[in-house]
Amino acid sequence: MLTARMSGRHSLALNENPYGPLPSVRHSLEQALASANRYPEYLPHRLARAIAARIGCSPEQIVVGAGATGVIMHILQAFVAPGRARVVMAEPIFDGYPVLTATVRGHSVMVALAADGSQDLDAMRAAVDARTGVVVLCDPHNPTGTRLRAGELTGFLDRIDTRVAVILDEAYIEFVAPDQRIDTETLLAAYPNVIVVRTFSKAFGLAGLRVGYAVADPQAAARIARWQVPFGMNILAEVGVRACYAAEDELNERIDAITSERDRVSVALRRLGYVLPDSSANHLFVPLHDPALAHRVSQAFCRAGIHVRKYSTGVRITVGDRAANQAVLTSLAEVRAAAHRLSGSVSTR
Ligand code: PMP
Repeated sequence: MLTARMSGRHSLALNENPYGPLPSVRHSLEQALASANRYPEYLPHRLARAIAARIGCSPEQIVVGAGATGVIMHILQAFVAPGRARVVMAEPIFDGYPVLTATVRGHSVMVALAADGSQDLDAMRAAVDARTGVVVLCDPHNPTGTRLRAGELTGFLDRIDTRVAVILDEAYIEFVAPDQRIDTETLLAAYPNVIVVRTFSKAFGLAGLRVGYAVADPQAAARIARWQVPFGMNILAEVGVRACYAAEDELNERIDAITSERDRVSVALRRLGYVLPDSSANHLFVPLHDPALAHRVSQAFCRAGIHVRKYSTGVRITVGDRAANQAVLTSLAEVRAAAHRLSGSVSTR
């Protein structure tokens, strides 16, 4: 897999940030390397305090882990219990969820997305029963980039047994304008069974450093933290996070660049005739239900050295730098033109 990614010219399969670390972040990380002979903190309390101070909650509410993936693993370890081993989630979703659910010997209950690409909360609620330990919701969703609708989340939570832990995965929330985000503190105060998960891998561009965190009610946080691995975070994690926080303005410029590219590419794809859900994340989902069309898209991307994530219903394309996005548009325009020549019209619905 690594070889395939390295040989490709445009790596758009993992929703990574196209930009390398900012010079100031890189400088801090290089300095920190001089202490690589030293252990990190036994458990990452300093990092938890830094994150808590930044987002305005108490440090007891934060659990840091090796990426959001590491944190999700600990949540599942804490809440997938005998008799409550079912984990309800949309399909498709971030691959980590079914994989980690199997790791903790849980059972994934997959609920199809609604036709518009959003999570079908009514169907998900109907899938919850006495055997459910955890429900996973993504906002924005991976792979479709859709948001949970206002009021829909609280309506859902009002009707869920409070013994069920509800993960609200906000891996891509920094790509959403601040005034459009769900207020975490208000949500957790009303629903202590909600566990918000975030990462430094996406908007912050630190995927290789593996830093993520959960924000939860202090009791739930303590239950999750029992699974933390001693000395489990590397020494660059805290340094990288602090350096990113210090460079917030520059990071925000990059986030703006990514979201405006995302919007530019979606407008262009729609002009070409592709039908896609509105994405609020750093990726676009292009539904391709016609196998012949999906094959042509796959071949065109292959020729152009573009790596994307394929699903049985379409492709997820990470928003990359301008050159990568142009390459995507060129490939999909070629496919469209060829499809017109072949049949006059090919629906992407
Ligand atoms: N949640 C979602 C929705 C994701 O898409 C991802 C990564 N693609 C993760 C969690 C995990 O991110 P990481 O482990 O890099 O923090």
